[in-house]
Amino acid sequence: MRLWGRGRALRQRMLCLWLLLLVLALVMLGVTDLLYRDQNQRRVPSPSRSFHHRVHSPVDLEVIVDSRDSAAAGGLDLPPLTSLQEDQLLIVPSFAQRSRATPAAPQKKGTYRVLLPGANKGTAAPTFLTHGDKGKSPRVKPGSLQKDVEVSSVQKYGFNEVASERISLRRGLPEARNPACMGEQYSESLPSASVVICFHNEAWSTLLRTVHSVLDTAPKQHLREVLLLDDLSQHGHLKSVLSEYVAHLDGVRLIRSTKRLGIGGCRSLGAARAAGEVLVFMDSHCECLKGWLEPLLERVAQDRTRVVSPVMDVIDWQTLRYNATQWPVRGVFDWRLDFHWEPYPRPKEKDSNSAIQPVRSPALGGGVLAIDRHFFQSVGAYDPGMLLLGAEQIELSIRVWSCGGSMEVVPCSRVAHLNHHHLPYLLPDQEVLQRNKIRIADTWMDAYRKIYYSRDTLAHFIRQSESPNVTEQESLKKSLGCRNFHWFLTTVYPELYIPQDRPALSGELYNVGTSSCADYPGGKGQPGGAMNIAPCSGTGNQHCELNSMGEVRWGPAGALCFDSGGEKVALSPCPTHQPSDSRFQWKYIKLSGQLVHQQSQLCLEAMKEGGLLHSDGGQERGVNTPTTEKGLFLRPCTHHPRQQWHFEQLVAPKGA
Ligand code: UDP
Ligand code: MN
Repeated sequence: MRLWGRGRALRQRMLCLWLLLLVLALVMLGVTDLLYRDQNQRRVPSPSRSFHHRVHSPVDLEVIVDSRDSAAAGGLDLPPLTSLQEDQLLIVPSFAQRSRATPAAPQKKGTYRVLLPGANKGTAAPTFLTHGDKGKSPRVKPGSLQKDVEVSSVQKYGFNEVASERISLRRGLPEARNPACMGEQYSESLPSASVVICFHNEAWSTLLRTVHSVLDTAPKQHLREVLLLDDLSQHGHLKSVLSEYVAHLDGVRLIRSTKRLGIGGCRSLGAARAAGEVLVFMDSHCECLKGWLEPLLERVAQDRTRVVSPVMDVIDWQTLRYNATQWPVRGVFDWRLDFHWEPYPRPKEKDSNSAIQPVRSPALGGGVLAIDRHFFQSVGAYDPGMLLLGAEQIELSIRVWSCGGSMEVVPCSRVAHLNHHHLPYLLPDQEVLQRNKIRIADTWMDAYRKIYYSRDTLAHFIRQSESPNVTEQESLKKSLGCRNFHWFLTTVYPELYIPQDRPALSGELYNVGTSSCADYPGGKGQPGGAMNIAPCSGTGNQHCELNSMGEVRWGPAGALCFDSGGEKVALSPCPTHQPSDSRFQWKYIKLSGQLVHQQSQLCLEAMKEGGLLHSDGGQERGVNTPTTEKGLFLRPCTHHPRQQWHFEQLVAPKGA
C-alpha cells in the first residue's frame, strides 16, 4: 500500500513537472510568434505598402489587414467596389525581398518542409520541393499500394496529386508557339500586370507551380505583383506554411478571405487590391509558357476595352503531361449556357503572319483572362450575385461584348491549365450552377431565355419557385447602355443556331411503343454517333426540335442533325447551307405520329434491345425472327406504336 502511495506521489510530481514544461513551451512559442511578426513587418519593402494590424489573428495564422491607403498608393484612382464588403476580409501581405530573407536552412513546420529559394545545393534553378508526402520525399511505392495512393489523391483533388508532387515546382514546358511568334516585337512601354490567383483547397504542388511559373516567365518590368487570394481554404498546408513560403518570394502577396467568396467575388477582391494596370486572372493550377504575358499586354494596351486570353493548353489530370492545343480556337457557349473551346478554322491566307492573328471570341474561359483594371471595374467586375463557381465567365463575356468591349484569343500567348477530373471541393448544393445561369438568362438573354429554360428544366423550376432578383444587374446594364442579346447573337456570335422551338414540334421526342425518349449516348454531342432511346429524363438534355427547314436538330448548340446514310439514324453536323439536303429532311405527320425521312420515305422506328427486326402493322412475328440492337432505325412505314412519336415540351412556353 505504501509503495503504491509513494508511487502516486511520484506520479503527481511528474505530472506537475510536465505541466510546468508545457506552460514554458507555450510561452516560448508566443514570444517567437511575436518576434516573427515583427520581423515580417520590418520586411515590408516600402512605406507606401505599410500594413498594420487591425484584427487579432487566430493562433496558426498571421493575419494582417492592410490599410486602404496602401491600395491608393498602388495608383488606384478608382472608387472602391461597392459590391465588396471589405471589412470582412483579411489580408496577409507577405512581401519579402530575397536578399532580406533569412538565408535559412530548410525549415520544418508541421508536417511540411519548406525549402527556401537557393537552398538547394548547387542547382541554378532549385526545386522547391515541399509538401513531401506528409514529411517524406515522395517515393515510388510498389505496384498496387502506389495505385491506391494515387486513386485517393484523385478523389481528394480531382487529379493525380501524387504524380504532381513528383514533378519539380519549376518545370519548364516545351515550346509550342508558332515559329512566327518568335519574330514578334512588343512595345517597350507595356502596361504593368497584376496576376490574380484565387484558390480554394488547391493542392500545394499545383498552387506553387502556378506561382513559380508566373515568376519565372513574366518579365520583371511588366509584372507588378502576384496576388494570391485564399478563398477560405480548409486544407492545413494552405495556412501558416503557405504564409511562410510566400513570405520568401519576391513580389507575391497573400490575401485571405474570412468569407467564402467564390471565384467571381474573390477575383473582384483581387482586382480591388491590385496595383497593376492590367489584371490577369489565373486559376490556381496553371503553368505559363515562355513569352505568354507580353502579347496579352500588347493587345490590351492597344485597346483598353479588349479582354484577352492565351491559348489554353491542357495539363492531363492523370499524368500531369502537357498537351498543346491546336490553333486556332475560340471560346463559345451553347443554349444550356455551358462553355466550350472550339476549333475555329479560318480560310487559309497566304500571308504567314495571319496564322498568328488573334481570333475574336464570343466568350472566354475562366482559366486565364487579361483585362484592363479600369475597364474591369467600369464594366461592373464579376456579377456579385453569382454563387461560388460556374458560368461566371459566360456572364462576363456577354457583358463585356454587350457593353462596349471585345474578346479575343491571342495565339502567341500560351498557358496550360490542369483540367480536373472533377471539382476538388464540394459545392453546398447541386443547384449553384443553375442559379448562376438563371442570372445570365434573366439579365442578358431577353426573350431568348426561353430557349435556355427549355433545355435546362431544373433552372426553370428553380426560377419559378424562387423568382430570383436581378434588378441590380439590370440597372447596371441600363447605366452602361448595353446592347441587347439579339445584337450579341447577330453581331458577335452569328454562328450559333437559333432554335425555333415551335410548339408540338420541339421538346423530348417520346416514342409510344417503347415508352422512352430519343437519346444521344455520345455525351456532349460529338458528331457521328448513333441515336438511341433511353428513359425520358425530363431535364431538358434530350431536347430536340423539328424546324421549318425539316431538320431534326439535336444538342445544346442545336448544331447536330438527325441523319441517316443507311438503316441507322445517327447525328451529323447540320448542313450550313440552305436549303439542306433531303438526307437531313424529315416530315412529321401529326395524326399518325410518324416521322418520315424525306430522302428514303422510310419512318423513324425505335428498337429496344432484343426487339424484333421488323415491325409489321402491330403484329409481332414468330419467335424465330432475329433480334436487333437498340436504337433508332429507318423502316418501312407502318402504324406500329414504335413508329409513333410526340414532341413533349417540358416547359410551358409562357412560363419562361
Ligand atoms: N475557386 C475559388 N473559390 C471557389 C471556387 C473556386 O477561389 O469557391 C478557385 C479555384 O481554386 C480555381 C478557380 O477558382 O483556382 C477556378 O475553379 P476551378 O479550377 O475549380 O474551376 P474549373 O477550372 O474546373 O472550371
Ligand atoms: Mn481550373
